[in-house]
Amino acid sequence: KRVFNFCAGPAALPEAVLQTAQAELLDWQGKGLSVMEMSHRSDEFVGIAERAEQDLRDLLAVPSDYKVLFLQGGASQQFAQIPLNLLGEGGSADYIDTGIWSRKAIEEASRYGHVNVAASAKGYDYFAIPGQNEWQLSADAAYVHYTPNETIGGLEFNWIPDVGDKPLVADMSSTILSRPLDVSRFGLIYAGAQKNIGPSGLVVVIIREDLLGKAHSRCPTMLDYSVAAANGSMYNTPPTFAWYLSGLIFQWLREQGGLEAMQRINDAKQRKLYAAIDASELYTNPINVADRSWMNVPFRLADDRLDKPFLAGAEERGLLNLKGHRSVGGMRASIYNAVPEAAVDALVAYMAEFEKQHG
Ligand code: PLP
Repeated sequence: KRVFNFCAGPAALPEAVLQTAQAELLDWQGKGLSVMEMSHRSDEFVGIAERAEQDLRDLLAVPSDYKVLFLQGGASQQFAQIPLNLLGEGGSADYIDTGIWSRKAIEEASRYGHVNVAASAKGYDYFAIPGQNEWQLSADAAYVHYTPNETIGGLEFNWIPDVGDKPLVADMSSTILSRPLDVSRFGLIYAGAQKNIGPSGLVVVIIREDLLGKAHSRCPTMLDYSVAAANGSMYNTPPTFAWYLSGLIFQWLREQGGLEAMQRINDAKQRKLYAAIDASELYTNPINVADRSWMNVPFRLADDRLDKPFLAGAEERGLLNLKGHRSVGGMRASIYNAVPEAAVDALVAYMAEFEKQHG
């Protein structure tokens, strides 16, 4: 029996997609072999890869002057790959600090050039996002980097920053595909796959073409976006199975009605969960209401000693992976696209039941 999985990543995948993958595992579409066993240069796999890219382009309405790359190394490798490609020799960039993931990006970029932290949520204890009137962007920045959704803190931008003619670079690992997005506002978007895209082992990069061909002279070939773009993300052997499975997710998203439909469903899910937290005496979420994440909902119990019994009772009811990140404690429910509204209903019902017993 499948459980409701609230894991932050690798996260739940749609059951229908896993069923398709299972049905095709030994014999992909009558070819007598698995996708894992195909040459990445075969017509079959090139077809799978092209369809996945096209479906992703359609879902996000990616403009034609952007490349979509399917790369390895996770989102963490992008923390280095971005400055290696965009910073030039000894250049500088503006970064916005809203939590643990943006700080990791800042730390890594600092190895390659000057980082100006143009705004920080530190002054708000990372419970709110500094408005753009508080940002101090620099004139010579090669780009502006931010993290639209902080997976651990549960802090999310509900607006896109306006950075003039500077390329806006966004780590969308835990928010991509949760709702429609105006890709044209960005120079570069990246997202580790293991939340809303597919299995781990893949990172998707959407980059405006004018940003290609600017890599540092010492940038490894494998990390040069223009090499990946010129080779259809197949300069070397790509993570073929992860790419295939992500393609199945994109097809599933289209069948759900695309990102407008996901927005409606995700909005309903997050409203229900935050409403339950706010109405209770036992649970709290500290984030400024306008800056609350749709995908990652951290909450605390009034007494830490209740954490263990809360998690044990949840597990008994098939509600898994609610433990908060080790750095912050408490609870966290990640409610990505593949987590159905029924999972949120079950969680909310359990939270009320637990509060009755222990509140
Ligand atoms: N950025 C964000 C916002 C994340 O949530 C994560 C992972 O959880 C990462 C970066 C790191 O991703 P990866 O493990 O793919 O390197």
